[in-house]
Amino acid sequence: MEQNNENVVAKQETVISNTSGKPPASKDSVVNLDAGDPTMYESFWKGMGDQGAITISSSQTISYFSDVTNFCWFLEPEFAREIRRLHKLVGNAVTEDRYLIVGTGSSQLLQAAVYALSPSDTPNPMNVVSAVPYYSTYAPLMDYLRSGLFRWAGDACMFKGDAYIELVCSPSNPDGFLRQAILKSGGGKTIHDLAYYWPQYTPITSPADHDISIFTVSKSIGHAGSRLGWALVKDIVVARNMTKFIELNTIGVSKVSQIRAAKIVKVVSDSYENPIPENPDKLFDFGRRLLVNRWKKLREAVKASGIFSLPEFPSETCKFTGEKAETLPAFAWLKCEKEGIEDCASFLRSHKILTRGGSYFGAGPNYTRVSMIDRDETFDLFIERLSSLH
Ligand code: PMP
Repeated sequence: MEQNNENVVAKQETVISNTSGKPPASKDSVVNLDAGDPTMYESFWKGMGDQGAITISSSQTISYFSDVTNFCWFLEPEFAREIRRLHKLVGNAVTEDRYLIVGTGSSQLLQAAVYALSPSDTPNPMNVVSAVPYYSTYAPLMDYLRSGLFRWAGDACMFKGDAYIELVCSPSNPDGFLRQAILKSGGGKTIHDLAYYWPQYTPITSPADHDISIFTVSKSIGHAGSRLGWALVKDIVVARNMTKFIELNTIGVSKVSQIRAAKIVKVVSDSYENPIPENPDKLFDFGRRLLVNRWKKLREAVKASGIFSLPEFPSETCKFTGEKAETLPAFAWLKCEKEGIEDCASFLRSHKILTRGGSYFGAGPNYTRVSMIDRDETFDLFIERLSSLH
């Protein structure tokens, strides 16, 4: 029993500690950049004041049902409208003739998609793969219930066979590069996880047009606590099966969250389409400004240290802004180059910097992932501490 508990803790995505979700209390506090908690957006939303505020009457969200004329009967029409409007504004996904499904975070939608794509009449579970370095939650998410329908089968680059579902995370968590499916077999299926395909992180070069594209409120507009994601799906049978999964799993998705998020998304789109002179702030511009500054500071500190290296990215024209834009990932995929330091995350932990080690992503321990989307206080203390290492 003891043994089992330890395994679960070691495999889970977020190592939740008493420093999670909070800024450091003092200069020598632990700097926790392990999870991708999008708290850098807090100051933006504070600056928006009452613009994102809503009032929900106590009688408004009683029923399980949102729209019984829609196959996804728990999808709030206003949330759906605002999501389609946001994609049109940004130009990062095709929404015409696509079925929209809401989920409790993209985490639930990833499971719903894998469920929908796994045949129920075959003797062996479907293999779920993703190219290394893959998002650390994929493996435990596929295996924690030991499903008879699907199982985690590791690195897509090593997989041989026809029966698979490939998870393609683009831009990639952890390394920030744009990705395409590795496997090309006619019998295989792909699910695109586009959590970071937003203009603050990467130039938008074309609207995504995949069989299944999954997005999340957490990383697009910073409202992780609302626990909402959405999927754009081409095939109605797949869309219906994903809906079925969510029906069985949680009997739908919180209406309160959807009403909340619809308003927040509307504020973002309005700030571009109908800006108000009293508050010219715009979310994607804010995100990009912050990340330009943070990546510059990080690259300087890394260069000065002589211990680490970072990936280099090409710049491209972003169709959303019309300008040439750098790639500014939500995570830094830090590599330890110094001889004698085999485990980058342990080395940083010994300096009270918590990051997520490469082995969680199927990579070596000489890599570690650092969140770039935490609060200013946390990020600044990280840079200060990193700069003191030699
Ligand atoms: N996919 C990727 C690539 C992510 O980074 C995350 C969040 N860390 C998720 C999915 C899950 O996001 P959520 O459940 O908050 O929507």
